[in-house]
Amino acid sequence: MFIGHFGLGLAGKKIAPKVSLGTWLMAVQLVDIIWPTLLLLGVEKATLHPELGGSRTIAFTYYPFTHSLLGAIGWSVAFGVAYRIITKSSQNAPLLSLAVFSHWVLDLIVHFHDLPLYPGSTTYVGFGLWANLPATAIIETALFVTGIVLYFTSTTAKNRKGRLIIWLLIILLVATHLYSFWAPPPASIKALAWSAQVQWLFVLLAYWGDRNRTPKFIPPSGTSPDLPAPPVRSAIPSLPV
Ligand SMILES: [Zn+2]
Repeated sequence: MFIGHFGLGLAGKKIAPKVSLGTWLMAVQLVDIIWPTLLLLGVEKATLHPELGGSRTIAFTYYPFTHSLLGAIGWSVAFGVAYRIITKSSQNAPLLSLAVFSHWVLDLIVHFHDLPLYPGSTTYVGFGLWANLPATAIIETALFVTGIVLYFTSTTAKNRKGRLIIWLLIILLVATHLYSFWAPPPASIKALAWSAQVQWLFVLLAYWGDRNRTPKFIPPSGTSPDLPAPPVRSAIPSLPV
């Protein structure tokens, strides 16, 4: 799963427009953003099987810190807490925690039996939708397109940058996704881990592009765009009837 996760991040903007798209994308893809660094550090492990091809080229042999159920819960809580500390507001923190956890749920659907329940666990889960590539492609594309539509219907560009950067991001995401299908297998796990660091670029582009866009719904001043406007109370006291 790749663009499907990003689709969910784009859709997040509809639910909480005050949160930058960069934060949304970092949340939904957090464990995959951390994973390549843990690979480079030798903390997590993967092996290459170019002879198997397709979704079985990379075997995720050991990734309990980023991709176990318990690990995903831990990153979800940590991200929500970090957001709360940085923004000094509890608003949207639970939503972002859920977004982080959504990554594990979507991975559970597509991954082959390789997601452990907790570090040290020998129970692995994964429904293996990757075995059916057309079905995976349909679900991922549907998530991604829905996310794009929701993003563009809930924000409007302030300037040219706001249009161009987001489209550049979308094109790069699609290109990376297609490249992963048709490109030759990575030369080594190290090469794979370094190339996966490009995800930071996606997050930066999302922050930059999103700064140049504004939520379509402009609330009255003093109210949050995430909350409905408070009811207006009549200054005239109601008369007994
Ligand atoms: Zn993942």
